[in-house]
Amino acid sequence: MKRTRVRFAPSPTGPLHIGGVRTALYNYLFAKKQEGDFILRIEDTDSQRFVPGAEDYIIEVFSWLGLSFDEGPHVGGKYAPYRQSERKEIYKQYVEQLLKAGKAYIAFDTPAQLEAKRTEVANFQYDASTRETMTNSLTLPEADVQQRIASGEQYVVRIKIEPNQTIVVNDLIRGQVTVNSSVLDDKVLYKSADELPTYHLANIVDDHLMEITHVIRGEEWLPSAPLHVTLYNYFGWTDTMPQFAHLPLLLKPEGNGKLSKRDGDRLGFPVFPLQWADPVTGEISSGYREKGYLPEAMLNFLSLLGWNPGNDQEILSLEDAINLFSLEKCSKSGAKFDYKKGEWFNHQYIQQKSNEELAEMFLNRHCGLDPQPRNDKDKLVKVVGLVKDRITYLSDLWEQASFFFIAPTTYDEKTVQKRWKPESPEQLTELIGILQGIDDFSAQNTEQVVMQWITSKEYHLGNIMNAFRLALVGESKGPHLFDITEIIGKEETVARLERAIKILNIK
Ligand code: GLU
Repeated sequence: MKRTRVRFAPSPTGPLHIGGVRTALYNYLFAKKQEGDFILRIEDTDSQRFVPGAEDYIIEVFSWLGLSFDEGPHVGGKYAPYRQSERKEIYKQYVEQLLKAGKAYIAFDTPAQLEAKRTEVANFQYDASTRETMTNSLTLPEADVQQRIASGEQYVVRIKIEPNQTIVVNDLIRGQVTVNSSVLDDKVLYKSADELPTYHLANIVDDHLMEITHVIRGEEWLPSAPLHVTLYNYFGWTDTMPQFAHLPLLLKPEGNGKLSKRDGDRLGFPVFPLQWADPVTGEISSGYREKGYLPEAMLNFLSLLGWNPGNDQEILSLEDAINLFSLEKCSKSGAKFDYKKGEWFNHQYIQQKSNEELAEMFLNRHCGLDPQPRNDKDKLVKVVGLVKDRITYLSDLWEQASFFFIAPTTYDEKTVQKRWKPESPEQLTELIGILQGIDDFSAQNTEQVVMQWITSKEYHLGNIMNAFRLALVGESKGPHLFDITEIIGKEETVARLERAIKILNIK
């Protein structure tokens, strides 16, 4: 059997969209399941849309996710180069081949002429029904064509689509798709202006030369598939034509229409894996990595957007996903981008990390913060253990944990009104005395002593505990109170109580 070879073939036109990451992941899962090759090919033949930095961004995404390519511009390989702009010369001979065989022709129509035609003819399409009326090598005498080229006139090469043929695309997800060739236009395959092929030609030639066996890509490319099948035919490569699989679209969380960056902005979630700074406008788009999303969670979440393992299993390691993956279990209908579910996955994966690992990640992210967590790593590890069940993103950690390191200087207004009672200053002053008498300041012992005191005095438990928490945290959040006192210690607990009594008494 032929070795399975798949490629992820992005065009470096900006930051890679989350849907592109899903496409790459499915290629990866499929390749690894078949013990085949996963290849990165950069499709940068559209010089107009090229964006600097986009290729590096793509490579960084996959190194963050831990999906490594077997071949690609950054790792090399037997079929190099993997950047289409470096394969210019290769494509030229294939353009020649089609021209010679009469499967393509040269066209000189200027953009202005094409525009005029479009205004003149409703729904104008450059095809068998109109090509005879245009300026091309089918309508001009050969000598004229040669003379125009010799004089440096720019031209394009168009595919010659024969009308009224049935084109069949066999798709592993969608089944058989049949199209009448008359709906296709004579697409441009090559432009003399930059001596570069267009996407369609370069894509087919490279899939052929790189011995790609399966083309797994987004549904938005399905309309191009009949043209691609035609090209395989024209080149005489039908026997080695890869199998197609067009993945379902990622839909808005509400399910009505395609997911876009605007949905992310509107609902507050990134649509890019990594943060991206637009090289022209400087505009920053948020990324999952910067938000504190774990790569494992990202992979698990994306793996289930358009595929299911055939059971209810939701938490899947990359290993599991590879073992269970099959294109037959990919759905035809669009997958709602349920970002809340994505948050749930991240929360789950955070719980699976050890406190040490999370503390380390936290320090790597927040190098500019209060130096205390860095200097007291043991304390940080304990704190992480106490608050991790409350966080969705790593970026939530500091918000949940900062009070362990920094004493509150202000107190949440609403909590004060609700929780600070007229008797609080006096009771907390008495509490200070009790705490000072405790030698073993462990959570368990402190709790026991304080509870005994409250019971013996017949104080209102809730009132004391709420005012106590307010003094320690500055608001009503946080884990078990005596876990906090144990970690910050006796001296700091007393100092925070004293400060609260002083500040809140003035009110
Ligand atoms: N360059 C195309 C893209 O940007 C590749 C589509 C394909 O996989 O054929 O997605």
